[in-house]
Order: sequence, then C-alpha cells, then structure tokens
Amino acid sequence: MSGIETRCVQGGYTPGNGEPRQIPIIQSTTFKYDTSEDMGKLFDLQAEGYFYSRLQNPTCDTVAARICSLEGGSAAMLTGSGQAANFYAVFNIANAGDHVVASSAIYGGTYNLFAVTMKKMGIDFTFVSPDCTEAELDAAFRPNTKALFGETIANPALCVLDIEMFAKAAHRHGVPLIVDNTFATPVNCRPFEWGADIVTHSTTKYMDGHGSAVGGCIVDSGRFDWDAYAEKYPGLTTPDESYHGIIYTRQFGREKAFITKATSQLMRDLGSVQSPQSAFLLGLGLESLHVRMERHCASAQAVAEFLSGHEKITWVRYCGLKGDPYYARAQKYLPKGSCGVVSFGVRGGRKAAETFMKHLKVAAIETHVADARTCCLHPASATHRQMSDEELTAAGVSPDLVRLSVGLESLEDLIADLDQALSAV
Ligand SMILES: *Cc1c(COP(=O)(O)O)cnc(C)c1O
Repeated sequence: MSGIETRCVQGGYTPGNGEPRQIPIIQSTTFKYDTSEDMGKLFDLQAEGYFYSRLQNPTCDTVAARICSLEGGSAAMLTGSGQAANFYAVFNIANAGDHVVASSAIYGGTYNLFAVTMKKMGIDFTFVSPDCTEAELDAAFRPNTKALFGETIANPALCVLDIEMFAKAAHRHGVPLIVDNTFATPVNCRPFEWGADIVTHSTTKYMDGHGSAVGGCIVDSGRFDWDAYAEKYPGLTTPDESYHGIIYTRQFGREKAFITKATSQLMRDLGSVQSPQSAFLLGLGLESLHVRMERHCASAQAVAEFLSGHEKITWVRYCGLKGDPYYARAQKYLPKGSCGVVSFGVRGGRKAAETFMKHLKVAAIETHVADARTCCLHPASATHRQMSDEELTAAGVSPDLVRLSVGLESLEDLIADLDQALSAV
C-alpha cells in the first residue's frame, strides 16, 4: 500500500472474510482469558494482546496503525490529547535533571507544558529561534540534553521548521528530533523523510477535522539507535524492574522500543488514553484527510492572495505567498501545500480588528483551528485580552493580528464574508 490516499482510506485495517468493513468500536475496558497463565504472559510483556484499555485498546491501536502508515513509521500509539502526546514523547526519554532543546515557535499549550509544568518536574528547556543558525542551535545543547523539539508549521506563528537542519543538529548531539506535525499532516509533509525520529500530532485538528474529538498520537520512525547512546537513555536500554527486568530495546528492537515503553509505563501510570469512540471518529476523519487538506490549502491560498491585495489589510502571513519569509522553506518541505491557517493584520489595530470580527457571518469566532468550518480568532480581544499592546507585540502577537482557519465552505462565500466585514471597518 504505497499511495498516501490509499493509506488514508484503508491503512491499518484489513478485514478478513465476513468481518466488518468499518473499524469496529471495541467499547470494552477489559478482556477475558481462559487461564491466569495466559494473562500473566501479557502482564510480563511476553505475549501480545489486550488486558486493560488504559494501556491498549484494539480500536485505538487500529487507528494508530493508520497514522503510523501515513507517517511511514514503525510503531504508534494514540493519546487522549495532543498535549498528552507531546508530554509522553518527551517524558518517555527525559527525566528530572535532564534538558531538552525546543523551537520557540510552538503552540502556546506546548510552551506552557515545557516551560512551566515539565520545568516543575525538573526537566530544563532551552528555546531557540526556528530561524537560528547551525552554530546557535549547536550552542543550545548540553551534555544532559535528551531531545530536540519543533513544529513543522508553528501554531500560531506559521513559521516553517528547517526539519533537515534540525535533524542533523539533533544527530550530531546524539539525540532524537521530535516534530509536532499537526498543522501539515502527513498528507503534506512526512518529517521522517527529512530525518526526524519521532512525530507527534494533535489529532483534534485536521486529522479529526470536524471538531468532534480531542485526541493525540505519537509515531516512532524506529530509526533512532538508543543503544548507541545507551548511557543517555537508561529507561530504554537497562532493565525495567516493573516488568521483571525486561530491556525495551532488546525485547522489542529499535522499531518498537519507544512506543512499547510509553504504553507500558506512561499509559499504565498516568492514563490519558483516547476513548475507542473518539478513535473511531478519528479513523473516519482520516479517510477524507487527503481530500480535505487539498481544499483547505487551495482555499487558504486564495484567501491569502485576496487579503494581500486588500486596502484594509496591512500584512498577511501564509507560507504559500511568494513574499512570505517561509515561502522557500515551504517549497522544499510542503510542495503540495501547507495548511488552511492564515494570519493577517487589520488596518487600524486592535479596535479595527474587533469591528471586523463582529461583522463576520460565515466565519465563526472560536479558539479552534483546522476544522471543516471556517473559524477566526482575534487574540488581543480574546485569548490574550489581559495583555497591553506592548506586551502583545513582545509576545509576537500584534494587537491587529487575526488568525483565520479556512474551512471547506464555498470560496466565493468566504471571500464575500471577509470583504463585507472589512468594509465595516
Ligand atoms: C492544538 C495543538 C496541540 C495540543 O493539542 P490538544 O489536542 O488540544 O491537546 C499541540 N500542538 C499543536 C501544533 C496544536 O495545534
């Protein structure tokens, strides 16, 4: 199965004779065994199978296998949210006393998770500009650095990551590159093809695509050689006493060690599973991901071009525009298109942007992005309303900034809506 479209529709699930055509929802917390020995083998990780849905569930695993196939990975797991995916991806290899280098252009929730919550857990983060030089990136690493982290297309800054350069830097320092590929989706970019080692997703966004289920996913490329840096990754390369001393890399190989450890330790201890019902909705969303992404990107490109030529708009950020600072990088990493999110400034600043938002009819005011329905956010009057104009500018969110997530409505209706709201300004 090679085409990305075929993998969206059929990946991860091949029913046998007379079996359900659609992925079955196994809405069961527990599984039944004939003997205690059968069950004991599962608890020792000596046999494959299901015993409790906090660790693994067949519906979730089937949908994870579809995403694994889309990314070209070796193993994958679903999580209850994108936040959980990024937390587990990092926490699986970094402990108290360790250090991680991350791009500063990342989702606000991830920044908080890293800079506040994981810092309290004793993990230190250094943030680097996504546009740093190789030398600046090298300088951020320390002997106790365990991972490098970035987003393919940053939410909401819309910077495009130089994945190849980041992957080379990570590997020079003997650590994996973790890439949050939420905005691009594997339809538009597969970070493993550029050297990334682990990919994460908030499946809440384009993968579900209909604003119906919060979820996340972690995919491992199976290529990072943990044993070559065994002293750095003892969790993967030395015995786990909670499973009778198994060694993940020895028992499960390079392909499965990372995901097996995250499932059998982190899911066991912390939970954050995706429900089988949500996984089913995610699987359904994935079936049209390739078709939706193409339309999201085409409409966003047209909207970005319309806005760039409008007298009431002072600036537009979309990496598909020739003048965008990330145009060249997008041509390399995202030749089929980037995503449906466009940001721009309304002439007249905070007040003008508020007036514009008030007059929108097709686009709805929401904090969400990457939905079939167009949605729009003015951070200065909503999510960032406590901040002064000066504080907003320092945070990279100018008072006039509007973020528009272009949905799947008629392009004519979208442009007419933007046009009439702008004439009210
Ligand atoms: C939304 C988002 C997250 C967090 O995902 P949730 O599913 O909301 O927990 C992480 N990364 C990116 C890039 C996002 O857009």
